[in-house]
Amino acid sequence: MKPPPFDYFAPTTIEEALELFSGSEDARFLAGGQSLMPMLNMRVAAPERVIDLNRIETLAGVTEEDGEIVIGAMTRQRRLERDPLLREKLPLIAMALRHVGHLQTRNRGTIGGSLCHLDPSAELPAVAFAHDAILEAAGPAGRRRIPIADWPSSLMETSLAPGEMLAAIRLRPWRPRAGYGFREFARRHGDFAIAGAAALLDFDAQGCIAKAALTLFGIHAAPVRATHAEAMLVGAKPGAALFAEACATARSLATLEDPYYSASYRGEVATAMAERALAQAAGLASEAQS
Ligand code: FAD
Repeated sequence: MKPPPFDYFAPTTIEEALELFSGSEDARFLAGGQSLMPMLNMRVAAPERVIDLNRIETLAGVTEEDGEIVIGAMTRQRRLERDPLLREKLPLIAMALRHVGHLQTRNRGTIGGSLCHLDPSAELPAVAFAHDAILEAAGPAGRRRIPIADWPSSLMETSLAPGEMLAAIRLRPWRPRAGYGFREFARRHGDFAIAGAAALLDFDAQGCIAKAALTLFGIHAAPVRATHAEAMLVGAKPGAALFAEACATARSLATLEDPYYSASYRGEVATAMAERALAQAAGLASEAQS
């Protein structure tokens, strides 16, 4: 299939892109094209205007500001996977990216595109949820910061206001000795996951869990923080029995079903992946402490 006709624009500044976007009732931004192009070709999307963000240099890059890591929306997934600052301060991103598509798709795909496409099984939104990311939108009224919890508005829909684009993602690193874990189950490597989990754990001087973040994905319209499980983990000593008991409370969070996988099956997969991600995070944290 080929895309329906559309007017193509390739602005070089955010301001120009926003002006072009607001000048049309039916426009789409083009980032890496790894989701949008298939949608156009299959005529799932048929915008009258496509605004290519690839020439806007200020939308890509990784910087550190007041203890936060700021990632430009157009930063390629492959760049994130190999960025030294991220490998040091936000290692969960590189761990998760190994599961995203293929090297070829990561060479083009961007973090902003993944967060805006918001596939329920996408890995980068799950990492953003684990890190309580702040998303920075740019629009006619200027910049606006959106907590990741408020980002999804419905299945594969964000809370960007009309005329807005995603400009940057802000993530606050955990302590250097914190542990991190990422596990998913997909039919084949590179496929979207059936379900998965992203975990962060930090420990106190007595070896008890001082801070926990556990995100499940592929089980709901958007990633879900297993807050009840997190509360069970904090203050306790890590261990398989604790992880199994805590993760079991997350099974009921699974509501997403389709003709291929029931919600209960997705819930089973997600909680099994969550136990493994927590064990991985605890293992890496104890390595970092030794
Ligand atoms: P695009 O496809 O260009 O855009 C995606 C959507 O976001 C469009 O609606 C677009 O208008 C909108 N958008 C993009 N940038 C902005 C912005 N700055 N502001 C507002 N709206 C914006 N993804 C996974 O997470 N896991 C996988 O396992 C996986 N497997 C894949 C396998 C294959 C073979 C392919 C082709 C893709 C796969 N993907 C997977 C998708 C891939 O990660 C895409 O890169 C990602 O979903 C979208 O990023 P993109 O930069 O290509 O965005």
